[in-house]
Amino acid sequence: MTESTSPAPKSNKTPARPTLKAVRGTRDLLPDQTPLWNHVESTARALFARYGFGEIRTPIFESTELFARGVGEETDIVSKEMFTWEDRARAASEKAQSLTLRPESTAGVVRAYIEHQLGNTGNLQKLYYIGPQFRRERPQRGRYRQFWQIGAEVIGPQSSGSESPLRDAEILEMLASLLTELGIRDWRLELNSVGSAEDRVRYNAALREALAPIKHQMCEDNQRRAETNPLRVLDSKDEADQALINTLPKIADYLSPESKAHFDQVLAALDACGVPYHLNPRLVRGLDYYTRTTFEFTVTTGLGTQNALLGGGRYDGLSEMLGGPRAPGIGFAIGEDRLILTLQAQAEADNISTAAPKLDAYIAPLTPAQNPAALSLARELRAAGLTVEVGDGTFKLRKSFDIADTLARHIILLGEDEAATNILTVKTFASGEQTKVPRAKLAGALR
Ligand code: AMP
Repeated sequence: MTESTSPAPKSNKTPARPTLKAVRGTRDLLPDQTPLWNHVESTARALFARYGFGEIRTPIFESTELFARGVGEETDIVSKEMFTWEDRARAASEKAQSLTLRPESTAGVVRAYIEHQLGNTGNLQKLYYIGPQFRRERPQRGRYRQFWQIGAEVIGPQSSGSESPLRDAEILEMLASLLTELGIRDWRLELNSVGSAEDRVRYNAALREALAPIKHQMCEDNQRRAETNPLRVLDSKDEADQALINTLPKIADYLSPESKAHFDQVLAALDACGVPYHLNPRLVRGLDYYTRTTFEFTVTTGLGTQNALLGGGRYDGLSEMLGGPRAPGIGFAIGEDRLILTLQAQAEADNISTAAPKLDAYIAPLTPAQNPAALSLARELRAAGLTVEVGDGTFKLRKSFDIADTLARHIILLGEDEAATNILTVKTFASGEQTKVPRAKLAGALR
């Protein structure tokens, strides 16, 4: 090969504009971000355990029919936002099947409840999940096509008390405790009751009647909703339609005495726990399966227009809609991405770092001959519970100090003398202090 045709030396640098990128609306979470995610998730897990919840992990894709039936054909999620594909049959014994990446997890959890006959235990099932969801929405800050939800469901046969307003209040109190424990400030609980399925029939009729003479003045989406699912007009964000929407009948005036009594008991229990709430008669939420209590928590910091941190509600008829037994339930889903954005915005305002803490020590072998001893020392310290990185003996001392300073609180120098005497030189970056420490006392000294 002549010099002119030899390939250019490979550069370590990433090209300025890489051609392969994460798909629009999806993101990588890098190690400087994941400590906060892990903190949120472990806080949630520990708190849910204190309320008697167990974790459930359902598949990331399910049959399309589950969401069509469970979430509702008329919802934005099912009508426009699902990632759906036709899964080809690969053998004569298989059938082609329409599959969908889950856009939410309640339908999957209730499917699992039915499939595994969890109701047969007679006990209330308290289940939580943490995982990615997929919706083809227009990406913007706080809105992604792959996003994470932390959610929980309380479901069981009627005899387990699953319909009790106590369950609604407990879920809301648990959420208030979680947000407070995570340090979320200024959260606001918006609460409504959308009544039973029968109340909704009467309310829908009243809405249709009220919408008939005015719907032509509304945006195209609301004109369509007025026909297909008038309840959905209430959560329209169309600015120009707001004044008209505010004149529509309120669900509270159509609740049966039973639904009203149920809601009043939820409120009384929240009052007893000191959980503040705001009644919002327009909060009907996007999914078809909700009955009675519906809620949303919003925040004022960090999210801009996408200020809904979490949402949920009661879904007493969902199990039956999916072909299961009667199993009233209530649940919620927290948008974890939005929770993180809120915590990051708060930390920024308070000048607090959310990055991972520095390692306890960086071990710098002074020549390649000390590499094995360095790895062996690292093994000993890691086994003692310390966080440790090991350098390479080919590095210049200056380079070792520079790397160590960015990564760790201490640097440990390991040369021939140190290996022979087992007395190590330790420098603490914060104080600039350098000391000699016997190997046996090293772990204690680094702590
Ligand atoms: P939903 O399942 O629509 O009730 O949503 C529950 C919560 O999930 C919302 O309050 C948001 O915090 C979050 N969420 C919903 N859609 C998205 C999305 N596309 N990107 C990020 N978070 C989302």
